[in-house]
Amino acid sequence: MSSRFQAAITREARSPISIEVLGSGEAFSGQDGNTSFLLLAPGNQRLGGAHKKLSATRERLRATLVDCGYQTPARLFSDPRIFRKISRTKRAPAFSIDQIVLTHSHADHAFGVVPLLMKYWQEKRTKPLIIIAPRGTRKVIETFFKLSYPPGISRMQFQIQWIESQPYLPLKSLGWNFEFVKTDHKVLNLGFRAFHDTQPHFSLAVSGDGALTAEAVDVFSKADIWFQEVFTLAEIIPGHTTLRQLEQFTKKLKNLPATAPLATPTKPLSIVCTHPMDECREMIRRAVDRINLNATKQKRAITFVSATSEDKAILTKKGFHYVCNPKIKL
Ligand SMILES: [Zn+2]
Repeated sequence: MSSRFQAAITREARSPISIEVLGSGEAFSGQDGNTSFLLLAPGNQRLGGAHKKLSATRERLRATLVDCGYQTPARLFSDPRIFRKISRTKRAPAFSIDQIVLTHSHADHAFGVVPLLMKYWQEKRTKPLIIIAPRGTRKVIETFFKLSYPPGISRMQFQIQWIESQPYLPLKSLGWNFEFVKTDHKVLNLGFRAFHDTQPHFSLAVSGDGALTAEAVDVFSKADIWFQEVFTLAEIIPGHTTLRQLEQFTKKLKNLPATAPLATPTKPLSIVCTHPMDECREMIRRAVDRINLNATKQKRAITFVSATSEDKAILTKKGFHYVCNPKIKL
């Protein structure tokens, strides 16, 4: 390992941003749960030295949930940290979700919002909630809400602020800076790259679902860690990405560091393959290992990872605050 790479790792290890993988599976996964992430970042948005002190105060962490499929609430409800009321009594680190970012309206990415909000209603939540989602998603959720729990979302006793995400329109919310980009999916899917004010040199990308496009690769590849939907190894299924396609796209990324405005020249990129079809999971995992073996020989700065618990250890060693806990306790 080069010393420059080591330095980058040390810097990231001090990061106040943490990424928790709540699930990494496909729409109907029986193993890994719907793909979803919890981002924890300091609540104080002032730049400079002040945030460093506050970052140690767990009470002030702000939580952003990325995608909330129908399997996600089960994972959230089983975690006592997520609900302030419970965590106070148990003296566990306390936080509750401040904003939700949805990539698209499919059930495995958005239908968990209804039970999550109902839980907040039951808990008598008063804190406002921000929901960022592409055009049309709000209507899907509100309709689903009305049909399942009439009179619907209007019964919430806390404020919900909807923000419509749009391709290439920079969006800033709770200290996070988002850049959205469209992938090729059955419904409008906007993946994104985002960085937090307190750590502008670290960014992550989340693809949501969809076949990759050159424009999407351009945005996602500028991140330090890129969570990409990889549904199959080579079999092409419309509206999804194969590992082979991802490989082809990344082979063209010769100018990766130089063209990335936020990147440092030595910045390595980790691509985490998520959302595999259950039947292809192990195949993709083995293929990822082979790619990395060749990449080491070629000294490429891209590491492919498949989102399984073993791979979590690999990323943790590289200094990312990345916790993969795909097991859903039911
Ligand atoms: Zn989808």
